[in-house]
Amino acid sequence: MSLPQYDHFIDGTFVPASSGEYFDLIDPATGEVSAKVASGTAEDVDRAIRAGERAQREGDWAKDARTRVPALRRFAAALRDAVPSLAEKESQITGRPVREMKAQLRRLPDWYDYYASVAETIEGGVLPFGPGYLDYTLREPLGVVALLTPWNHPLLILTKKLSAALASGNSIVIKPSELAPTTVNDLAAMLRDAGVPKGIVNVVHGYGRVAGKALAEDPRIAKVDLTGGTPTGKGVAAVAGQNLARVTAELGGKGTVIVFPDADEDEAVNGAVFASFIATGQTCVQGARVLVHESRYETFLQRLADKVSRLRIGPPADISTDIGPMVSEGQRSRVLEYVKIGVDEGAQLVHGGVVPEGSKGWYVVPTVFGGVTPQMRVAREEIFGPVVVVMSYRDEEDAIRIANDTEYGLAMSVWTRDVLRAHRVAARLECGIVWINDHHRIDPASPWGGYKQSGIGSENGVDAYRNYTRLKTVIVRTQETKFDWFDGSGEVKRYS
Ligand code: NDP
Repeated sequence: MSLPQYDHFIDGTFVPASSGEYFDLIDPATGEVSAKVASGTAEDVDRAIRAGERAQREGDWAKDARTRVPALRRFAAALRDAVPSLAEKESQITGRPVREMKAQLRRLPDWYDYYASVAETIEGGVLPFGPGYLDYTLREPLGVVALLTPWNHPLLILTKKLSAALASGNSIVIKPSELAPTTVNDLAAMLRDAGVPKGIVNVVHGYGRVAGKALAEDPRIAKVDLTGGTPTGKGVAAVAGQNLARVTAELGGKGTVIVFPDADEDEAVNGAVFASFIATGQTCVQGARVLVHESRYETFLQRLADKVSRLRIGPPADISTDIGPMVSEGQRSRVLEYVKIGVDEGAQLVHGGVVPEGSKGWYVVPTVFGGVTPQMRVAREEIFGPVVVVMSYRDEEDAIRIANDTEYGLAMSVWTRDVLRAHRVAARLECGIVWINDHHRIDPASPWGGYKQSGIGSENGVDAYRNYTRLKTVIVRTQETKFDWFDGSGEVKRYS
């Protein structure tokens, strides 16, 4: 049986890898090769950037926000229809349960609609420059921008970046994760069919260290927007910095779920399991650490472990599956290594930590550690898998101290019925996103970004649109008075 082949998408059309090389895509549920994917090189990246530059010069896309709005709205409508099939495909490549992908992907059209609305309503500024002058600002697209995306939420993470970059008029070169390259091709073709001009959206597949690197270091790239691990983000930001390209980076995390004694215990247990095990734990905002007051610690730990033990491990395509395989063998090895580290550090393995008996593919039984202290590596380092550590705290001050005592600062949730405490604690948490009595919720209008080692800049909202533009100030003399500084008068008059 011949395998499906995924080519690059450059200048409005699918093109083969210039090197002729294709790599294998592995199905995480079976470990078998499921497709061949173009292995991009600097030559493919160059073609894509040239197409992007041409698209900036030609036509009205980059010049007039109004021309972009109908295409974005048509695309949003087409995407809504395509969600069921994209969800199945995305579930297959990532191993994530199809129920999750269906729920996640049906939100995506909202981003394109939202940014279409921003493009058609955003206002410029007229500034108080002084008498005799009119001073106004123009927002222009940056030019050609690079989007580097990971494998865990392939279309969601791409969409957050792409919708803002497109609506603000840029040309885009996408380098998807080598582990999740397929659905982005569908998206690119749908954008073309919705009327996005050729060259505005380009996709170059391949390895980060080859295609991603060539893209990030190219001086023609005006902005790099990356979601990935913190070491990758730092490397890419350093390279882009050499070109004075802008950088937005959504990086690693070690999210904390803080459960206060007044929280509804059923809600908090369900919330903690939701926070920890969506995407089989492979999510940057995972509630990887659960902090429970010492008075309720033992009961909470048992209840949480009991709920986790009832999660259904199964094939991603089965609608009743709660826990699918991990995305790759490498990710599974990393998780199993951390389980060993936790046990060696003296943490108590309350549930899971093993490969399910007789399973094919990259499965791990969801894992709960109790008796964890904040200094343990399992409590501090990003595992990025189905592992949750449960810790106790003495009082509110202690909970805040432990929650903030990490190099990361992406997201946390606070579970309490006390409105004073909720806002007091939210204000003191060192992270970019705080949920109260909830976790994982996201919206196109709501900024999303990390503090500390979790990143720089943010996605979503009007600011993300603005950050895909550059600001031009136009200063117009409106007074009739003629001006000649060198008129020989010696007069000290306004010249600035
Ligand atoms: P990586 O950091 O490995 O890769 C991210 C992207 O960058 C991929 O497309 C990758 O390509 C590419 N890349 C890798 N090296 C380079 C390079 N030298 N130059 C340019 N591009 C490069 O992340 P993963 O894909 O493994 O995703 C998991 C990580 O992402 C986790 O650490 C997680 O915390 C983080 N993440 C953060 C989120 C957030 O919103 N803050 C959300 C989701 C994930 P390739 O895959 O081909 O190597």
